[in-house]
Amino acid sequence: MFDNLSDKLEATFKKLAGQATINEINIGIAMRDIKRALLNADVNYKVAKKLVDDIREKSLGEQVLKSVSPAQMIVKIVNDELTDLMGGEHQPLNLSPKKLPAIIMVAGLQGSGKTTFCAKLAKRLKKNGKNPMLVAADVYRPAAVDQLRTLGEQVDVPVFSIDEQDAMKAAVKGLEAARLAAKDVVIIDTAGRLQIDEKMMAEAEALKHALKPDELLFVVDSMMGQEAVNTAKAFNDRLDFDGVVLTKLDGDARGGAALSIRQVVEKPIKFISVGEKVDDLDLFYPDRMAQRILG
Ligand code: GDP
Repeated sequence: MFDNLSDKLEATFKKLAGQATINEINIGIAMRDIKRALLNADVNYKVAKKLVDDIREKSLGEQVLKSVSPAQMIVKIVNDELTDLMGGEHQPLNLSPKKLPAIIMVAGLQGSGKTTFCAKLAKRLKKNGKNPMLVAADVYRPAAVDQLRTLGEQVDVPVFSIDEQDAMKAAVKGLEAARLAAKDVVIIDTAGRLQIDEKMMAEAEALKHALKPDELLFVVDSMMGQEAVNTAKAFNDRLDFDGVVLTKLDGDARGGAALSIRQVVEKPIKFISVGEKVDDLDLFYPDRMAQRILG
């Protein structure tokens, strides 16, 4: 991930460091190169433009130009701006300690890695001392329910499902079952489709309204690049979710979604998924990601 972008940024910084003086002209050239590199990484145009404008302004500050190593200071500025762009601080899950069980609702398109994420999250919560239950509210595809069952077995977390194609009923009964079993957190896997459609959105909206989840997480495949950002926007406009789970980062060479989503949607990325195995889930730290980009 970010290989190309990292290489290009490194080359730009090297070029800057090799200049006798840092001035408006070579900073201008560096900014043009950085912008091009960002766009090649499939970063949203507006996001890239604003980022580069901010970096330019700070780089042209007195403090930088008069310092002993201006090129190094510019690297630091880029690092800080990238961190800010991706949200600054890590945003943890926000589960109410009072309401038991706490509810995490998971939404996204089919194939985004939603069901796999639910199991990964269950495993992580269990490791952190929670007692979770998984609820299959993706009731239209029997394969989805079976998949959640199999994954539930793998992570040793019970899975609740019903035999009817009624997502609301599955979710409500799942919650009841979790309460009876004294579970402290339920993860509800909702239905996705290959494309955004009205029925899916209306169902997710109704579930959100009825369940009042502590966390509504939106799962999206980072390999979709700018389309991932557009999908996130469409879901957020409708569902006003709490956080993003960015999946398949292991296969995403460019990284445009990771860099753009937070700015466009104004919701934090909370988790990143980096593989198919149940342990391949990480918390998202903007500063670590920025450091990774800068190599
Ligand atoms: P859903 O339809 O959104 O529930 O998606 P699934 O959880 O069934 O995932 C779709 C496919 O993507 C499966 O083959 C998963 O193994 C795979 N997958 C999920 N997350 C990741 C990931 O982070 N990296 C990779 N490489 N594959 C993933």
